Formats: sequence, C-alpha cells, structure tokens
Amino acid sequence: MEKHNILNKLPKAELGFFPTPIVTLKNLSRHLGGPEILMKRDDLTGLALGGNKTRKLAFIIGDALQKGCDTVVTAGAQQSNHCRQTAAAAAQLGLECHLLLGGTLPNDINGNLLLDQLLGAHIHWTNQNRKGEDIPQVVAALKNQGKKPYVIPYGGSNALGACGFVSAGIELETQLKNIEISDVFFASSSGGTHAGLMLAKTVLDAQYNLVGVQIDKDEDHDSAFKTQVTKLANETSVLLGMDIVYKQSDVLLEDGFLGEGYGVVGAAEQYAINLLARTEGILLDPVYTGRAMAALIDKVQKGGFDKSQRVLFWHTGGAPSLFSYASKVQ
Ligand SMILES: *Cc1c(COP(=O)(O)O)cnc(C)c1O
Repeated sequence: MEKHNILNKLPKAELGFFPTPIVTLKNLSRHLGGPEILMKRDDLTGLALGGNKTRKLAFIIGDALQKGCDTVVTAGAQQSNHCRQTAAAAAQLGLECHLLLGGTLPNDINGNLLLDQLLGAHIHWTNQNRKGEDIPQVVAALKNQGKKPYVIPYGGSNALGACGFVSAGIELETQLKNIEISDVFFASSSGGTHAGLMLAKTVLDAQYNLVGVQIDKDEDHDSAFKTQVTKLANETSVLLGMDIVYKQSDVLLEDGFLGEGYGVVGAAEQYAINLLARTEGILLDPVYTGRAMAALIDKVQKGGFDKSQRVLFWHTGGAPSLFSYASKVQ
C-alpha cells in the first residue's frame, strides 16, 4: 500500500486551503528560554475563519454529497467552532444546515453564534444537551418535510472525520521533510484530531510523541476519554482497510489542565492567550488552544524539554469565540 494514498478512495469536498503553513515561534521560544517551538496553522484553513473541523468536514460532507443529502444536522456548545465551520461548508455547497446548540438564546449574540446566523444556519436551542442528544427528533421532523438530512456527529468525530487528520498528519510529514520534531501538542476534545494523527504517525512510522491536551473533564472516570480515542482510531483503521489495532496505552493524554471544566477560562489560559498575542501576534482561543498552549508552556517552564529539541504546537483554531469571552481573557 502506498502510504500517502490511503485516503484517495474517499469522496472529499474542497472546503479549505491546504497545506496550512508551519511557522517558527522565535519570540515565544526566546521568551520562555526553551526548545524551538513550531506552530501548524490550522487556524488558517480558510473556511469562515478556519479551524480543525474544516479537515474533518471535507470527508464527512464529501460522503453526504455522495449520498445525495440536501441537509446537514449537527450539534455543539453555543460557541462551537465545529458548528460554525459546518454552517459555512453547508452555505458553500448549497446545503441546508441545522445546528443544535446547548443552552438558550443569549441576549448578546456574538463570536461563533453570530457567524452561525450570518451563514444562514437554522438554530435549535437544546438547554443542557450540547452533544446532540436531541438530534433524532430534529431529523424525524426534517424527514417529514421531505428533506434528506445527514447527521454529522458531535465535533465531527467519527471515522470519516478522523480521516481529515490522517490526511493532516501526512501533510505535516511532507512539509517537515527531514526536520525532526520531538513532540506534537494539540487540544483534544471529541477525539477525531487525536485518532487521525495517531494513524498517520503509525502509517508513516513517525517518531514524535503525540500529546493530546484533554479539554473536557470525563463525566465517568479517568480512562473514558482514552477509551473513546482508542475506539475511534480503531474504527478509522478499519474504514481505511488497515490492520492497525490500538490499545488505550497508545493514547498519550495530558489531563492536568482541565481547570474548572469545559469552556471555563482560568489564569493558565488567560496567560497563554495574552503571551501568544503579545510575543507573536497570534490569536489563540479561550476554550481549546489557550488550554493546550498553557500545558506546553508549563512543560517548558518546568524544564521538561531540552533547549536543543524542536516541538510543534498544532493550532486548531477557535479565535472567533474570543469575542464572547471578552471579560474573561484579559
Ligand atoms: C474541536 C476543536 C478542538 C478539538 O478537536 P477534536 O478533534 O474534537 O478533539 C481543538 N481546538 C479547536 C479550536 C476546536 O474547535
């Protein structure tokens, strides 16, 4: 099997601009006195302010189009980046878009929610259910109206979505050529980014540590999220006809930065967001990349890397939600 061609059989929608750039964060490295820090700029995928969901949606919506669907349905938090990118992809391709958002309609509409509305998405408020619990009712109603709905899972994290990050891991190798990196840090939340990058690393026999920084507290117990990533990586392996089987211990997770929970900005996120803005002119986001960068900064500050090492931070996007956290991030 030609390892760079494993994804070629899957239908794909062209939603963004790839490869995304890799930049060297010279000022940040100097400021921290640590290793060389590179950044993969998936905040620049180009789909209505960008982000990592663009890569997943390319495969998921490719499948929806092939199946002749005319409507997409997905779910997320009120400031979901996934929902905003889904709404943009749907608008671009002439699909109707239904978003189930947790909470209730706020008085102040900004950030991703404002963009969802501009992009013409139909919004359903689902109170405490932010992970798509109410999708079946919405789908039934759409079918009654004669629509052909296609359900996109929470965060776009199924095997097809993870293929977006198998592709991303291959893209990374092509860009790095022979430049060696010791670690890849990224925010891990619904698991698709993590699962896809794991497969790419295995297929390419890459030697870096893949460090997912956990964003959501597990509701059940410690290993729940690891189980989810493992399961998703194995499903993706099956989808691609590969014989790779992962176990939980193959998933590297940093779970020491959960703070007060999902979407709660603490001092660590605030520090990371401000530092990146001031040293590099790069905008992180309050929910995901602020937290993941805080984990990387902490490791550098604790002497966890050698100065001669080179590490990569995967910027997964999310800056549009900065506006809805205005009082929390500064
Ligand atoms: C969704 C998201 C993530 C997490 O990616 P998963 O594949 O869901 O784990 C990270 N960063 C941002 C900005 C996101 O929107």
